[in-house]
Amino acid sequence: MSEQSFHLVCPHCQATNRVPAARLSAAPKCGKCGQPLLTASPHELNAQTANKVIQKNDVLTIVDFWASWCQPCIMMAPEFKSAASQLPQVFFAKVQTDRYEQAAAPYNIRSLPTMVAFRNGKEVARQSGALPSHQIIQWVQSLQS
Ligand SMILES: [Zn+2]
Repeated sequence: MSEQSFHLVCPHCQATNRVPAARLSAAPKCGKCGQPLLTASPHELNAQTANKVIQKNDVLTIVDFWASWCQPCIMMAPEFKSAASQLPQVFFAKVQTDRYEQAAAPYNIRSLPTMVAFRNGKEVARQSGALPSHQIIQWVQSLQS
């Protein structure tokens, strides 16, 4: 297990990094741009970065699919941010589906907001409807192995 390493896409420059498992909890930095790979805050993805992050990230990655017209989505935004700040080893991201329809299309999102959890490029769970931060945290923790 200690020899294992994970691919992690830099949220700043989109370079794919390989991070040894033991370094994941030690604030790993991007080998290309030097910025933190895990920032404990959600990253806004567009059509291009969404595909790359979702397919390349080996670590647990939680994507909030939302839209600007969706009231529950707007209400959940600070809750999602708060959950991200408390789970620094999880990659949190957001996709604005009314702006980047193509980014959401492959994931068959039927209602908003929907949070989808990915690991190793595959969906592992999804949760529809707005949740308060403590329930987001509970859900994410239940997915961590
Ligand atoms: Zn970078």
